[in-house]
Amino acid sequence: MSSLRFVYGPVPSRRLGRSLGVNPIPFKTCNYSCVYCQLGRTLHLTNRRQDFFRKEEILDEILYAVEVNRGKIDYVTFVGEGEPTLNKNLGWLVRRARETGIPVAVITNGALLYREDVRYDLMGADVVLPSLDTAIERTFRVLNRPHRELHIDRIIEGMMEFRRSFEGKLWFEVMLVKGVNDSEEELESLKRVFDRINPDRIYINIPIRPPAEPWVRPPDEEAIVRAKAILGDVIPINFYETGDFSIQGFDDPVEAVVAICRRHPMRLEEIVETLAERFPGVNKSFLEKLKDEGRLKKITYRGKEFFVAPATRFGTPE
Ligand code: SF4
Repeated sequence: MSSLRFVYGPVPSRRLGRSLGVNPIPFKTCNYSCVYCQLGRTLHLTNRRQDFFRKEEILDEILYAVEVNRGKIDYVTFVGEGEPTLNKNLGWLVRRARETGIPVAVITNGALLYREDVRYDLMGADVVLPSLDTAIERTFRVLNRPHRELHIDRIIEGMMEFRRSFEGKLWFEVMLVKGVNDSEEELESLKRVFDRINPDRIYINIPIRPPAEPWVRPPDEEAIVRAKAILGDVIPINFYETGDFSIQGFDDPVEAVVAICRRHPMRLEEIVETLAERFPGVNKSFLEKLKDEGRLKKITYRGKEFFVAPATRFGTPE
């Protein structure tokens, strides 16, 4: 099989070990448009589950990658360049992927867990990793900018309902944004919700890479300490991680660079370091040339330059 369209990796993941990523969603198709999204503003805001692609094509790629990487994958992970539960074949894909004998994880914003069909689809996974950044509707609208059909109370009800019947592991993630959801009031209300959902783990994350909106900032150290104190047994992730991208399957340095920047904005040094062994010719002028040709875009966040996919739409800095 030549280059893969839906599957990448395995890549090392802090939470999931060696993870084979599966993206069943077109670029930036989501029911949220989070201000911190590192893929930029949502291009297709929808709350309707769709086919998007032929499910057999996605499965073929998964089976191929599993075969080629036998013994080197800890999880097959569904994680979209958008929201994976919007793919209405997700349940079928999860169940078929699980037949390989490798555990399956789904990273989701959890918004559609109020729907019975989505809960059923995710029931087949070994680990579900939903996000929940706030329990307060007005903050939800500012931070996650959801589709108008979505309301946080209903989503939380759906998460609780899912917890009642799901026998796998439920690991939540909270993204903390300075001045938006890092106050005592915010964290206390989240704590009350988590006490009712009873997740197996809670991770906290902060926006380190360029967010969709340039005003987004990571919380102060004090707020992180507060979050740990209020939420209890949380695990920080992603703090100052470096690029951890597999370039397996790429024979062409241009394709490798474009693919990794599409999934994750990266700094010049990170790209050069990640590709050094396989493609030693990737350097500053190589990347600048790709930018000039319109294959990459460069943006600045907190004084640092990052390369991103040209389709990515970020807010304009004030
Ligand atoms: S962070 Fe996730 S849920 Fe939020 S807009 Fe981006 S893809 Fe969608």
